[in-house]
Amino acid sequence: MPSRNLKNNLKKELLNPEIVSTLNQMDEILTKFTSGFALKYIEHAVYLSTLNAIIKDIEYYYLAISSSLIILELSEHIKNTEEHKNSIQKNSKSLHNFIIKSTLNCSKTIKPNHSIIVLIQNILNTQKILVKYLKAESSKIYTYKIQILTKILQMMSQTPFLLSLTALRNLIEKNLTSNIFPNYTAGSAPYLPNYGNIKYTLVLDLDETLVHKHNEQFLIRPGAIEFIQTMKDYFELVIFTAATPMYADYGLKIIDPNNHIKLRLCRDKVNANYNDLYKDLSLLGRDLDKVIIVDNLAENFRFQPKNGICIQTWIGDQMDRRLFELASELEKVAISSKAVQDVIPLLPKFNN
Ligand SMILES: [Mg+2]
Repeated sequence: MPSRNLKNNLKKELLNPEIVSTLNQMDEILTKFTSGFALKYIEHAVYLSTLNAIIKDIEYYYLAISSSLIILELSEHIKNTEEHKNSIQKNSKSLHNFIIKSTLNCSKTIKPNHSIIVLIQNILNTQKILVKYLKAESSKIYTYKIQILTKILQMMSQTPFLLSLTALRNLIEKNLTSNIFPNYTAGSAPYLPNYGNIKYTLVLDLDETLVHKHNEQFLIRPGAIEFIQTMKDYFELVIFTAATPMYADYGLKIIDPNNHIKLRLCRDKVNANYNDLYKDLSLLGRDLDKVIIVDNLAENFRFQPKNGICIQTWIGDQMDRRLFELASELEKVAISSKAVQDVIPLLPKFNN
């Protein structure tokens, strides 16, 4: 659909004028392809989602277009890919037209085009080709970006929409390494992005709380896997560890194989006063009435003691049941509507 027709169509509808103008601007981005278009498109998608509730299928369309634009920007660094670029442009335009049609027909039901999954698979395949090209041209950073983009797309079905967009935005703006997870959080405080209604945030320590590493042996505390699996339905889950990102990802791959915990704050986010470490919950960007931290060291949360649950240090006891007990207590907290500071003192002590 040409841009002019689109504008006329949109004007005829009694839509929120801000939605109309934003959709028009997005259409223009796809028509003109000026520099920084991927980032601009994502910014508009974020803004639109604050104006208009977006259904899951349409979220995939936004993510597919944004990813295509990122691919397109990365393709600019390699020669002889005109045909490839044109096909991406064409795809993005037709996807955007579907978004517009569905927005125009918001009162009627419009069936999403299920070929979107096939299309996303195509984007992922395009990325594989591009990685080959980029490797040949020795642009390491672009190769990393393509690999991270692939992982973000693979996880999109179980990631809140705005969190996926945050990750895409960070991917464009930052030169991060091949690790995906730093893309979901901010480099400086407040660390956690806003991506929807979060009732409670559960911050978890890793070593001696959920796992223990002894020499080359990596041990899982009884109930750790089930704990994450259950708690993800009640809480926004965050790992806050003094360990390195590489170690945290290694450990979480084992105890959280489905990546329910995408928000991972590692060593560089832990505050150090000389050699004295602490985890400052005020830097998370969350209402402290809604934040709980579980850590085997009370010193780690000494600046927000009312938010903390100190769980006994675990170094391998296979009879330990504390995570099972804690899970059932935390479920009660989650379904209560009280501030956590009022609830935590009522919980049985886990540190004895
Ligand atoms: Mg610990």
